[in-house]
Amino acid sequence: APEFIIDGLKATVEGKEILKGLNIKIKGGEVHAIMGPNGTGKSTLASTIMGHPKYEVTEGSISLNGEDVLEMAVDERARAGLFLAMQYPSEITGVTNADFLRSAINARRGEGNEISLIKFIRQMEGKMKELEMNPEFMHRYLNEGFSGGEKKRNEILQMMLLDPSIVILDEIDSGLDIDALRIVATGVNAMRSEDRGFLIITHYQRLLNYIKPDFVHVMMQGRIVKSGGPELAERLENEGYDWIKEELGIVD
Ligand code: ADP
Ligand code: MG
Ligand code: MG
Repeated sequence: APEFIIDGLKATVEGKEILKGLNIKIKGGEVHAIMGPNGTGKSTLASTIMGHPKYEVTEGSISLNGEDVLEMAVDERARAGLFLAMQYPSEITGVTNADFLRSAINARRGEGNEISLIKFIRQMEGKMKELEMNPEFMHRYLNEGFSGGEKKRNEILQMMLLDPSIVILDEIDSGLDIDALRIVATGVNAMRSEDRGFLIITHYQRLLNYIKPDFVHVMMQGRIVKSGGPELAERLENEGYDWIKEELGIVD
């Protein structure tokens, strides 16, 4: 089972420190949720893990199965099994969804082990059916003109086909109506296994009614300041974040 460890992570964006010593450990089979106010660095954490060039790590470490993730190039991180469903997926004109997915799958599988076209189409069609996606999305340019909900479903489609070992979902619930949320959550739950760990970033407790986390972490000002079980998410939903600020003496 995979083991993903972030230790004392500090990172800056354009010279400004956003992550200020963040620790988390995720094992295969576990679902961790990170909740926190807007602007606290949740998406920065996700982008930093994936190696986005805008985010510079100044201290700390990230490892997957004992391997140094910070030493890996972006494509190596994906090949190693890290996957991020982005809060704001980008549109790529000229690249169809099918082309994009097939090259992503092949990059993950490695040279000499490429998926056959027939097998790829069969898998893609099957997963699209599960996600109740219109088959025409296969031939549309990546995310171009997709609605918010369609983009999120498409991110989940990528996750299902790539079979990652650590999955990060950044606000996958934003912009989803309740039916789409249920479909997306069913897709995620079907992917839960001992061979996979999840980091679910969300602003709202609602998502966690559909994807039950084992651990809930509160992130504030670039750090995880409190951890607990699902009951912590419920308390945040009912009482907001002020009680944590008071408890910890955080001033903002
Ligand atoms: P969250 O996802 O928790 O809402 P973000 O990680 O998006 O928070 O943002 C944390 C802080 O980092 C914010 O102050 C934001 O303005 C800043 N930030 C994030 N990404 C960038 C970027 N690419 N360029 C400049 N500032 C950024
Ligand atoms: Mg935000
Ligand atoms: Mg964010």
